[in-house]
Amino acid sequence: MRDRIAVPIGIDDLEVEDTTLVNGVIEVTVRSTFPRACWYCGSVDVVGHGTCRRRLRDRSCGYPTVLVWIQRRHKCRDCHRTSRERHPAFPGAKRLTVRFLEHLGNAATQAPMADVATRETVSWWRVSDAFSRVATGCGNHAGPPPRVISLDEAAFRKRFRYHTIVSDPEAPGVVDMVEGNTQRSAEQALRRLPKAWHDNIETVVCDLHWPYRKAVENVLPDARLVADKFHVIRSVTAAANRVRIRHGRRRTIIGRDGGLSRQHNPRFDPNVWRSRWIFTKRANQLTDKELATLTAIFTAQPEIGIAWWLEQAFAAIYQADTRAEAERRLNVWIYHVNVASITEFVNLSRTLQKWREPILAYHDDPQTNAYAEGITNKIKVIKRRGYGYRNPTRYRQLILTACGRRTEPDG
Ligand SMILES: [Zn+2]
Repeated sequence: MRDRIAVPIGIDDLEVEDTTLVNGVIEVTVRSTFPRACWYCGSVDVVGHGTCRRRLRDRSCGYPTVLVWIQRRHKCRDCHRTSRERHPAFPGAKRLTVRFLEHLGNAATQAPMADVATRETVSWWRVSDAFSRVATGCGNHAGPPPRVISLDEAAFRKRFRYHTIVSDPEAPGVVDMVEGNTQRSAEQALRRLPKAWHDNIETVVCDLHWPYRKAVENVLPDARLVADKFHVIRSVTAAANRVRIRHGRRRTIIGRDGGLSRQHNPRFDPNVWRSRWIFTKRANQLTDKELATLTAIFTAQPEIGIAWWLEQAFAAIYQADTRAEAERRLNVWIYHVNVASITEFVNLSRTLQKWREPILAYHDDPQTNAYAEGITNKIKVIKRRGYGYRNPTRYRQLILTACGRRTEPDG
């Protein structure tokens, strides 16, 4: 016995009788130590009635581990029935221990089931079954009602299949997930929330996606809708970039409806094209040299200069201290857009005016979708880790267990 490491078995009321390595499998012979009692009537007036050996797969320690449980049978003198003893660590007729089942289920939330099955040398079915046990009760809206929820879309396959993710940025975690990114699916997700939650939700954050806004207005009319800051700013940056690209693109596509012929853009300015990275930088982060480059470009192409200025000026709206000040800055900005009358910005300001209230609502409750975007990324990782999922129920369960909301407060 000198060349062995003794490891405690870690299960109550069991004593280890023998440990051997058979064909690369550790076999631990165990015997229960609690007193015999009748399974049917609980009487302790029983006599032994033989044993049977049950093999139960347990957590691996270096090698796959199997517990050989010498299960006692006994005959009751009171009710004259024969029963086998039971142990809480060994479920029903299953051929694995409770803790191994839990281990498989938890591992399946972190890695693809096929990988877990290979690593633990069990069948895929076994892991799938264990995961189903862990996943029961996911998405049942447990825990305290959230104050803020955010709506975001996650692409399962871009342009073909989307999911709407409802998450709580303060708990934090995913609350629910439904198929589709339409108004109907968002409404379905919101209606599924418990009634008590509806009354508690103060703020809903979403990106500039009209169907989500309609859904929130229909289902949660009293909630404050906040347009996600990063999406708003990104749309402004995109407009400025479109103006720059108009001048900076080497080739232009003509005949949009039919032919796809490209020809040299007569307005092409290589300096504009080269400046594309410094163009997106914030004004206060520019070096003197970069500033000089930009100034030269803006002198040559004043329209780009105006677009750049409008983009920089928009950031000031979010830096305002109060909502009134932000509103004033937004009005001034829209006035300047109309004076400049650059097509890209006029179209954008038309969109932003429709979202005026949600944009300004940021100053009442500064919430963003930053957490929801992080979740979207995690979902993407989960999806790719398993090389996609075919079973929608399973996919939803997986996301809700892996990114679920923490329902217990910090301990
Ligand atoms: Zn009995």
